[in-house]
Amino acid sequence: MPFSLHGIGVSRGYAIGRTYLLQRNQPEITEYIIPDTIIEDEVQRFLNSLNIAKQQLRDIRVQVPATAPAEATAFIDTHLLMLEDTTLTEAPIKLIRSHKYNAEWALKIQRDSLVQVFEEMDDPYLRTRKEDVEHVVRRVQHILVTEDAAYLNNSDYTELTSSRLEGRIIVADDLTPADTILMQHQGVLAFVTEYGGPLSHTAILARSLGIPAVVGARNARTYLGHDEPVVVDGRAGVILTGLDERILRYYRHKQQEERRQQRELHKLKGKPAITRDGLTIQLYANIELPEDAVAVRDVVADGIGLYRTEFLFMNRSDVPDEEEHLASYLHVIKILEGSPITIRTADLGADKQVDSGRGGPICTNPALGLRAIRMCLKDLAMFRPQLRAILRASAYGPVRMMIPMLSTIQEVFQVLRLVTETKQELRDRGLAFDDAMPIGGMIEVPAAAVCAPQFARYLDFLSIGTNDLIQYTLAIDRVDNEISYLYDPLHPAVLMLIHNTIRAGHKAGIPVSLCGEMAGDSRYTALLLGLGLTQFSMHPTALLEIKRVIQDSNVAELTKVVRRLLHTTDTEKYGEMIKGIAGN
Ligand code: PEP
Ligand code: MG
Repeated sequence: MPFSLHGIGVSRGYAIGRTYLLQRNQPEITEYIIPDTIIEDEVQRFLNSLNIAKQQLRDIRVQVPATAPAEATAFIDTHLLMLEDTTLTEAPIKLIRSHKYNAEWALKIQRDSLVQVFEEMDDPYLRTRKEDVEHVVRRVQHILVTEDAAYLNNSDYTELTSSRLEGRIIVADDLTPADTILMQHQGVLAFVTEYGGPLSHTAILARSLGIPAVVGARNARTYLGHDEPVVVDGRAGVILTGLDERILRYYRHKQQEERRQQRELHKLKGKPAITRDGLTIQLYANIELPEDAVAVRDVVADGIGLYRTEFLFMNRSDVPDEEEHLASYLHVIKILEGSPITIRTADLGADKQVDSGRGGPICTNPALGLRAIRMCLKDLAMFRPQLRAILRASAYGPVRMMIPMLSTIQEVFQVLRLVTETKQELRDRGLAFDDAMPIGGMIEVPAAAVCAPQFARYLDFLSIGTNDLIQYTLAIDRVDNEISYLYDPLHPAVLMLIHNTIRAGHKAGIPVSLCGEMAGDSRYTALLLGLGLTQFSMHPTALLEIKRVIQDSNVAELTKVVRRLLHTTDTEKYGEMIKGIAGN
């Protein structure tokens, strides 16, 4: 009997194969008191375990294939940096000395408090980074508990260094970036994990390695048997079992079709995105780390529409200085060789790591609290170095600056005043910058979308952040799984706000792009074209497929359909029309 299990499809593609259920060998952590005489030995034991962990990660790093995307090594580097960070290195030592804890227990206590800090964070990306803490701590605890020099197999899963995984579909509770890389080496067909969301490491890595993946498939290891034949649909987020010849034939066909499409898509590299009725659309890419710029160049995007700069603030207790900001921007400028780069100013939430007390107490509703531009305007000591660096970077290439989460026009005025002051400072220091550097804003709060004409008047460009716009319009926390069924990009209110923003930009004669996940989802391309969008910014891996849809579209026709759609009050009719334009 066919049976289907559902999760979140995070990396498209079909896999047909047998499962391999991974059971983690979880280290058991117990507390015991260390006698005074051997406390320094315990400290040494802890330091040794950190060194072994670092060596393990370095060993994995050299196994990353040269063809792998930059993210693969970046994730390992993040873990290596964490093993150098005082929050993980010095704090447990203090606990060993002050409380006479054993090393495993001291590390556990420190882990618990770090995880709590991450859980209170507002930004969904940073919030999911608590995985990093978990993964790094688990690695060190393993080393401490096993105390076995032979146990240096680099993973919680002994299987990962064997070759038994070739051609298998991996089913696990959760996977670290290192696990994912090791498995890619083993030639696994797909990943299914019980935890994690679209922003988890497994998801991001699987997407860039081109391996189908489903995350958040709760209890997958209970419902799926070991060595069971299954199909994984990495787009729909479905795992099918109880396969018969008919189902297999269907999915084999889909697989072939997918491969053929991939080959076709590669041919679109460097070709313009022109609709059937002759409109040229600009396709930009979103990046999270400077190294991601390589993928942007490879896919020949028109530039970077969103450079998220939050990574600069991660895994540290101080804030980055002007030179650090500048170095990371120049890195990207160099790779992009003349294409425009839109640098977004810090979009941080109620984040203890960066506010270190300056942001006041953690609020009860961080998404509505001191985040993004609100935090920057409150903490100028943090904001000013970034402004100086962005301006200085503009002397080296076509840089644009973008402000996240605007809700009132006063925030724009404040930023513009700060930019004017910063320019004067740079002049006084004899430093070069582009006096005409465009300054734009993200429209991701409904208030800003409704008042888009005001924002369009004072800014050089707008960019619609649908991830947040949907969250704020529909009053649903974008990272809360309980209400994810309400997260609906096709809600008429969302479409009206997008439409209003695009229209306001066009009327004011300034460009409007859309840089939320919707831009890279081909189900919405026709709809967005019909809403008047001419600039899309997305994950580089989505760019060629979006280009293909654009080349197949007729904007004049879509505009008419969308106009009718926006005027429909009959919900049944709306449902039918939306299916027609954003159906699959
Ligand atoms: C958005 O909100 O759509 C967006 C692109 O920004 P982020 O996902 O970084 O909040
Ligand atoms: Mg946003």
